[in-house]
Amino acid sequence: MSTQIDTQSYMEIEEAHTSGVYPKRPLTIVRGEGAYLWDDAGNRYIDCVGGQGAANLGHAHPAVVAAIREQAGVLLNCPEIFYNDKRAALLERLTSLARMPRAYLCNSGAEAVEAALKFAKLATGRMEIIATKRGFHGRTMGALSATWEPKYREPFQPLVPNYKHINYNDLAAADAAISDQTAAIIVEVVQGEGGVNPASAEYLQGLQRLCRERGAMFIVDEVQTGFGRTGKLFAHQHYDLSPDLMPVAKSIAGGLPMGACLIGERVPPLQAQTHGTTFGGSPIVCAAALAALEAMETEDLPGRAAALGGWLLERLANLPTSKVREVRGLGLIIGIELRQKVSPVLKSLQERGVLALPAGMNVLRLLPPLVISKEALEQAAQQIEAVIEGLPELS
Ligand SMILES: *Cc1c(COP(=O)(O)O)cnc(C)c1O
Repeated sequence: MSTQIDTQSYMEIEEAHTSGVYPKRPLTIVRGEGAYLWDDAGNRYIDCVGGQGAANLGHAHPAVVAAIREQAGVLLNCPEIFYNDKRAALLERLTSLARMPRAYLCNSGAEAVEAALKFAKLATGRMEIIATKRGFHGRTMGALSATWEPKYREPFQPLVPNYKHINYNDLAAADAAISDQTAAIIVEVVQGEGGVNPASAEYLQGLQRLCRERGAMFIVDEVQTGFGRTGKLFAHQHYDLSPDLMPVAKSIAGGLPMGACLIGERVPPLQAQTHGTTFGGSPIVCAAALAALEAMETEDLPGRAAALGGWLLERLANLPTSKVREVRGLGLIIGIELRQKVSPVLKSLQERGVLALPAGMNVLRLLPPLVISKEALEQAAQQIEAVIEGLPELS
């Protein structure tokens, strides 16, 4: 039996029963394939939201779909007190690709960050965490304490104590802040939610050196930058870094909810019962992640992100300076900083069949699936150009 409900009703039903914590757009998405999404009226959109980072492989990637279908009939769930064939295979593959020996498996980015923060405290016996202004690390209490945005933090104070926020891309500030009480510094290679701000090589390498010198853990949050997004499998590989702890999530399992915290050599062996989660490392997500990692390699998604991202950055470089302050990015995470609010631009783009994201109040953020064709990206670029050129001049 099929229930026919019109689009207005879907929105009304969600409005009546959803939590209310999300700013919603008046659009009901029902299907996806590659870099395209369809609404319930059959309209097609070019997807530059990319599942907010979870759809690097595109929607309904055939290899991921096949792996999920197959594993679904074998074993969905298996707590980590037991060993499992799919988990073993994934752990081997993931740690080898990340060149870090161990990984803790969980279910989201915030959980991966929580794990990194707890492991840093266990590894050092210290309790202070240093994070950066405009950094985003998730919304559970430990991760939220590292997140900068006051709007997200203030309703929940007091948060976890002993967190400091320092200026991003300012090595002197880090030098002054890291002490013999510091368990870890946590940083993004490109700040995603905070406005698409890439860090410099010197800054990141300097942070790693400071952490080594002062006995702190170097946490590189690759939840958004990981899995090919920036043009390398992991963004820190652009700068030859070796993080001590690396939270990842979003695209790791081709769109299924999964997170992982990669654990480096400087972290001493973790004791049993210091952390854990029921669903971590379930065979179904491990099977999806194995298929996703293989597809990233065989389709060279990092290489695509580098080539298409470089091309798009250049393509967008001539947007009018009266409307645009800066265009920046790394691979296929691209931010267009406007001289005005981004929300009307998002709305116009949607009307023209392109879905995109904000990063803060005035940055337009593009996170297209890395499988996107150059033609689709060109079409998106044309619409972006048209919408931005059509913005009213600021008086
Ligand atoms: C999205 C994100 C998180 C949080 O991930 P969730 O899965 O939403 O909990 C953490 N860090 C960064 C850099 C992110 O972009």
